Amino acid sequence: MKNKGSLIVISGFSGVGKGTVVKRLISQYGYDLSISATTRSPREGEENGREYFFMSRSEFENLIDYGGFIEWTQYVENYYGTPKKYVEQSLNEGKNIILEIEVMGAMKIKEQYPDALLIFIAAPSISSLKARLAGRGTENEATIVKRLKKATEEASDMDKYDYIVVNDDLDKCVEVVNSVIVSYGCRQANNVDFINGIRDELNCI
Ligand code: 5GP
Repeated sequence: MKNKGSLIVISGFSGVGKGTVVKRLISQYGYDLSISATTRSPREGEENGREYFFMSRSEFENLIDYGGFIEWTQYVENYYGTPKKYVEQSLNEGKNIILEIEVMGAMKIKEQYPDALLIFIAAPSISSLKARLAGRGTENEATIVKRLKKATEEASDMDKYDYIVVNDDLDKCVEVVNSVIVSYGCRQANNVDFINGIRDELNCI
C-alpha cells in the first residue's frame, strides 16, 4: 500500500547555495529531483540532462504549446520550466520529488498541488549573498545586479513558504531541510492509505 509521494519545492535567492543543498539532499537521502528545462546557456561543468535540459527558445516554446510543463516562467531573460511527465510519474510511484525553482513557479505549483511542501532557503544576510554571487564568478556584474533585483521581488513572497531555512552552515542546513521533509511526510493527511490499511487489517481479526 503506497501513499502518494510529496512534492517538495525548494526556492531561495540566487547564490544562496540551494543547488548545493539540493545535491546533498539527493546524495545523502536519496530524494528524486525534477530536472528543469531552460534556455540559459550551460555554466562550466553543467551537463545537459543533469543540471538542466538546455534548449533553444523555439524548442521551449513548442513544449509550452504542447502542454509539457507543470509551470514555467521567465527569469532574468531566460525561460525555465518543470516538465510535467516525470513529476507526475514520480508522485504516482509514491516518491518524494524535489523541485528547485524560483518563487513565481513555486506559487503556480502550490495552486495546482495544494499539498506541496514549500521550503525557502535564505542567506544569513544580503551582504553575504552579494559576496557569494560575486565570488562564484559565473555571472557578469550586470547579471549579478539583475539577480539581486530579483531577490528583492522574491523576498516579498517569502512569507508564502511553509518553512524558511537559513543556509549559514551547509551540513546543518541540509540536515534541517531533511527533517522538515521527513516530518511533513508523517502528517496525518499524507498517511490516509496507511491508516485505512491498518483499519482494514484490524477488521479482519
Ligand atoms: P540558475 O540560472 O541560477 O540555474 O536558475 C535561476 C533560477 O531559476 C533559480 O532561482 C532556480 O531555482 C530557478 N529555476 C530553475 N528551474 C526552474 C523551473 O523549472 N521553473 C521555475 N519557475 N524556476 C526554475
